[in-house]
Amino acid sequence: MAAPSIKIHHGDLPAGLAFPNGVAIDTETLGLNPHRDRLCLVQLSNGDGSAHLVKFNGKDYEAPRLKALLADPAILKIFHFAQFDIAVLKQYLGVETAPLYCTKIASKLARTYTDRHGLKDLVGELLGVEISKQQQSSDWGAAELSESQMAYAANDVLHLHALKAKLDVMLAREGRADFARSAFGFLPTRARLDLAGFEDDDIFAH
Ligand code: MN
Repeated sequence: MAAPSIKIHHGDLPAGLAFPNGVAIDTETLGLNPHRDRLCLVQLSNGDGSAHLVKFNGKDYEAPRLKALLADPAILKIFHFAQFDIAVLKQYLGVETAPLYCTKIASKLARTYTDRHGLKDLVGELLGVEISKQQQSSDWGAAELSESQMAYAANDVLHLHALKAKLDVMLAREGRADFARSAFGFLPTRARLDLAGFEDDDIFAH
């Protein structure tokens, strides 16, 4: 793949972007507790090797163009572990993100031969691409992001369309596409349960 085009924006997406084939999305936060740890960055890609990074300063979460995209019923939003990202997006932008596709859930349904469902594992096995998770726990609230932070953040969305294509074939092959669709449909409720304090409870367990 050619060097990806990475653009950084402050507070919202620019006007005029189109995502006809769905949009791959990831978020970076100050930590793993959405009530405590603020949304710092939203990464987006239309699957063509380019990425847009929307940086938040912690005060202004207006972002009308980004919110409209997240809620647009005609545009599929592709995540890896959507459950966390959509809870954060709900908490900080007040928007319910839908419709959804989650490559982690698709992988758990399709790749029952392994318990390795991390993004790095999926990209490595299904696409033959090595990605680094080195910047995962860096300071995403910094006023200026480093080159390696931006490259890392972009990498988390650049491969999701290609992963979805591979996983869809596997899901269809194993007759599990229906399970996947239903599970994706439940994700907004699962995220609201997390925010309501049920994050450590499996409500389906005995
Ligand atoms: Mn990420």
